[in-house]
This record gives sequence, C-alpha cells and structure tokens, in this order.
Amino acid sequence: MNRVYNFAPGPSTMPQEALETAAREMLDYQGTGMCVAEMSHRSKQYQAIFDEAEATLRDLMHIPDTYAVLFLQGGATGQFAAIPMNLMTKSGSADYVDSGNFAHGALVEAKKYGNVRVVGSSRDDNYAYIPKLNKADFDPNADYFYITTNNTIYGTRYYELPDTGDVPLVADMSSNILSEAYDVNRFGVIYAGAQKNVGPAGLTIVIVRRDLLGRAMPITPKIMDWKIMDEKGSMLNTPPTYAIYMAGLCMKWLKKQGGVEAIEKVNIEKAKLLYDLLDGSAFYRPTASKESRSRMNVTFTTPSPELDAEFVKAAAEQGMVNLKGHRVVGGIRASIYNAMPVEGVQKLAEFMKKFEMEHK
Ligand SMILES: *Cc1c(COP(=O)(O)O)cnc(C)c1O
Repeated sequence: MNRVYNFAPGPSTMPQEALETAAREMLDYQGTGMCVAEMSHRSKQYQAIFDEAEATLRDLMHIPDTYAVLFLQGGATGQFAAIPMNLMTKSGSADYVDSGNFAHGALVEAKKYGNVRVVGSSRDDNYAYIPKLNKADFDPNADYFYITTNNTIYGTRYYELPDTGDVPLVADMSSNILSEAYDVNRFGVIYAGAQKNVGPAGLTIVIVRRDLLGRAMPITPKIMDWKIMDEKGSMLNTPPTYAIYMAGLCMKWLKKQGGVEAIEKVNIEKAKLLYDLLDGSAFYRPTASKESRSRMNVTFTTPSPELDAEFVKAAAEQGMVNLKGHRVVGGIRASIYNAMPVEGVQKLAEFMKKFEMEHK
C-alpha cells in the first residue's frame, strides 16, 4: 500500500485510522452481516450510529442543548439558499461580508430572497485579506450577519469575530470547522460541508440556535426547512447514511487526539512551519495578507507560473499531491486540515527548501 500526502482542498485527506475501521467493517458492521451503506436509515443499528456521530460533534464543539444539530445534504452551496429562506423574514434584510468566492456566491444567492447589504469586501484585491469591518455600518435590524470564517481558495481567516450585538451571526465554517475552538454561543448558525475537515462529501452540518427555528419563508422546500428537519431528526427523507458514519469515525479519531483544543495547537504549529519558511524566503511569495493568514489553506507562488507548475509536478512525484492553487489565485495551495499529519507538512517544507535551492 502506498498512501500519499494529500493536500487537496476538499474532498481531502481523512485519518488513516478511520479509513481502516471503515474497511474492517465494510462487509459486516459489528455482527449485523451488512455494510452500513446497506442499512435502513430507520433501523435501530443505524440510529445508534447517527446518534453517536451527533453526540461526538456536540462533545467536540461543546454545543449547548439550546442549539439543534442537523445532518443534511446539498452541500454548503445548498445552505447559501437555505439561510435566507430560513432567516430573512423579519426585516427582510441581511448583512454580508464579501471575503471570498464562496461568500460572494452566498450573497448572490441570498439576493433572490431579500435585501443584501455588503458591509465589507476585499473583492477588488482578489480577496487577499479579511475586510476591515466598522460596527457603525452594521444594520441593527438585519435578520442576520453573514461571514465565512475561513476562505478556502485565498487562504484567509478571521482573527476576530465581528460584534453583531443581537443580530444572529451566521458562519460558513466549511473549511475550518473542528480545527480551532469556537464559542458556539457567539453564533446564531454555524454550517459546513463535511468534505474539508470533517469526513467525506455528501454531508452538510448545520448547527442552529433553537430560537431561530420556525421563521422560514412559506416557499422553503421541506428538506431545506431547518425546523422541519429538526423535528424529523434530520430524517424527513433518507439522510447521507454512509457519510454520517464515516464522519463519526473521523470525529472519534479527533476526540482521541485530545479534541479540538488539542488539534488547534497542532494546526498552529503546522501552519507556522510553512509561513515561517515563506517569510524567510525571497523565492516564494505568500498570497494572503499576513494579518489574515489561514491555518488550513496556505497559498503562495514561486517566481513564475512555469515554476509553480514544475513545483506541483515535482511534489506529486514525491508523494505530495493536489498542491495546485485554485485557478482564481494561481500558484500553490497546501490544504493542511486536521487529518494531515505533521510529518506531511514537514516533508513539504523540506521539499520547498530543496526546490528553492535548485531553482533560484
Ligand atoms: C468548499 C466550500 C464551499 C462549497 O461547499 P459545497 O459543499 O461544495 O457546496 C462553501 N464554502 C466554503 C468556505 C468552502 O470551503
């Protein structure tokens, strides 16, 4: 067996231990004589798997009972529409921060359902930083205030959450959920596609403060209505059963590592290894502003697009794959989620030093 270090932005690398457990249980899940993917979602065995996954997530993020946890489908992109449909019903207006392509996609989608105010944007600078926010610009009557805590494509991250007062803060955490400790109480809604830092694709996690349920527009499709999905235990229809099982295995692994607080320290170290190298080099250029640097997605360029391509190719030959940057930024992007071992980042750093020596 020859596993690579997979620096993909998502779907991405998962803990080997979780994959091994899934492999072992593939044909016969704990004496049931079947694979989890073959089980009825209404069965007692499957409900136990589902409940444990939810309990593990609640434990890892210290989610209070005043919040519902939903396991949905449709990706983060589905929630771009679900959020306004569920929340934009009082003043009919929401504040958005345009900090990246996904934030932009979310606000464009929300405009179909109500009034969108953009209270900060770094779009004109190719989203190289988190926009400076001024509380005086916030609408105190907004139905919600929307941010993207980590911008996957550009490699930026909020170091300070906006103070939105009584306006519920809604956060797309697709690429940094479970990577650092957040106080859930600061948010009205946290949501994430699972395929970056939680588990496989197909599962969308929505964590919503219970008092925000029941505000949906009448046009809201049932499968996007958080209140209905909560009442049905996320099983109005068939949930993504296998993805939930695998996410559960990955989260159990995370718990064994000491949980979010412990992995956050490792993540800071991993990111520092690469940023220190970038800062000490005249060859590489980091593309995200220093004060907004992501710990999950490290973006940089070499002196030319040709060398970028050579870098990506040479790294792949040494078992470090999927390092090509997103087309809107170019260059190189190393996504170093929870499941990327320190050894993988060390190997990349060694490779970077050698590549610089050979090409400068
Ligand atoms: C990947 C990503 C999305 C899109 O997720 P899908 O599940 O593919 O819809 C949205 N927001 C962020 C921050 C992402 O990283």
